[in-house]
Amino acid sequence: MQIMQQLSSHIHYLTPYQETDRPILGAITGTRSTLLVDAGNSSAHIQLFIDQLVKLDISPRWVVLTHWHWDHVFGMNQANTTIIAQTLTTEYIRRMQKWSWDDESMDRRVAEGTDIEFCTSAIKKELGSERDIILPTPDITFERKLELDLGRVHCVIEHVGGDHSDDSTVIYVQEDKVLFVGDALYPNIHVEPNEYTAEATLQLVRMLRHYDAETVVLSHHADIWDGARYQQELDLLEHIARLVQQPDQEEELIIGQLERQYDRELDKYERETITLFMNGRRRQQWMEPVAESGA
Ligand SMILES: [Zn+2]
Repeated sequence: MQIMQQLSSHIHYLTPYQETDRPILGAITGTRSTLLVDAGNSSAHIQLFIDQLVKLDISPRWVVLTHWHWDHVFGMNQANTTIIAQTLTTEYIRRMQKWSWDDESMDRRVAEGTDIEFCTSAIKKELGSERDIILPTPDITFERKLELDLGRVHCVIEHVGGDHSDDSTVIYVQEDKVLFVGDALYPNIHVEPNEYTAEATLQLVRMLRHYDAETVVLSHHADIWDGARYQQELDLLEHIARLVQQPDQEEELIIGQLERQYDRELDKYERETITLFMNGRRRQQWMEPVAESGA
């Protein structure tokens, strides 16, 4: 079950729920207004959060979407707030507004490759057979960066992109040094096998390093990261991305180089991360000759 937690003096959040892919929902409260981070994967999901907030005398005024994926936006209408989204997020939501959510349409999109089995099966689990999904167009769309003053609490909302979704946006709460990264640090799960690419990762890490974050929230991680754990992850992604960019680097060679650099054996997670980067490089190599012949 999901529970309400207080993260810092201005931030509450609802813990994630893996079974139906419910992400963490955040609420950042200043003296004048409250900003929600993500709208949840259903009306029921966002309503559960709002009910808990009401008990704390908090009523949300805004919601910002970290990216367009269903589990972050399906509760938008129920949130009953002004919706803020990045340009691409709004574009993808407009595309999704045309989609039907009956079994047949969903299965067809999986077969065509516009959606993946992981999402459609979670949607069926979360929403059952009554899939009355209303997707309003976001009220405010921004391109690069937006600053929001909630009253003695300032939020920076910035588009960072990355492999997971090119519209990924992060929210930094200045007074609390808390960074909501959404799903931005996760790999691209819309290709098989899942992957990271070196270029997109290096660009993402560069942008994320601008924030002096002491507490970091990943949407599908139950554990909140401190600054040290976060830096460790950014370092790992950056180190592997640089090694993968060098020609003739095979998986075992990269493992060996990192083990020498870290002076210890790599764990399962680190090895899996390397595999994800190798997947990205392999797919790029397949695609290159096609691009050349088309030029
Ligand atoms: Zn996502």
